[in-house]
Amino acid sequence: MAKSTTDRYLENNKRYAGGQAIHKPTYPGKLPIAPARRVAVVACMDARLDVEDLLGLQTGDAHVIRNAGGVVSDDTIRCLIISHHLLDTNEIILVHHTRCGMLAFTDDLLKAGLEGDPAAGKLLSQATGRAFTGCKKSAAMPSAFHAFRGQIEPLDAPRDAKQTERLEWDVRRGMSSILNHPWIPANGPDAVTVRGFIYDVDTGKLEEVSYPGPMGSIG
Ligand SMILES: [Zn+2]
Repeated sequence: MAKSTTDRYLENNKRYAGGQAIHKPTYPGKLPIAPARRVAVVACMDARLDVEDLLGLQTGDAHVIRNAGGVVSDDTIRCLIISHHLLDTNEIILVHHTRCGMLAFTDDLLKAGLEGDPAAGKLLSQATGRAFTGCKKSAAMPSAFHAFRGQIEPLDAPRDAKQTERLEWDVRRGMSSILNHPWIPANGPDAVTVRGFIYDVDTGKLEEVSYPGPMGSIG
């Protein structure tokens, strides 16, 4: 079977982790609007990830959608539908990563802290090392922060089996949300492919997450 663009980017990632620079940072000149490699990447906003570098993307190759966690939120789905149906992308790459901040809190804890609960504020201060200042007000938006499910751990904790499992759960939930969305075709002549990865911030390497598989539960 012919290599997919995602496979080629995985080869680039091995070279990146080995110290090679593949992404060219200079102005490429006039380019078409549709991504040349027909790829859309969904990745966490973490400052330690440079998506263009770690995948060896060139300017014009791909859509890059980033948010806290690299989660497949309502807005991510919005972007992916536009990316595929209007701009012709057909490979989706999800990138979560080790030591992610989304492992260190829960939606309820952050909401309580923001609303001014002192105990929640204290826990968040301890977790982040930053004095958490509540706003003493409730708000309707955002409806969710999409913190990763499972037992929370200290911010920036080194990877262990439990952390890997929680990251894999969220990657799979994202893949499931995409593959089961009625406006994102997973079969037929217009199908997109979706592959999910964990990027290890301590090695620079991507590891693929098997799918289907466990997606976790609260606990
Ligand atoms: Zn992250």
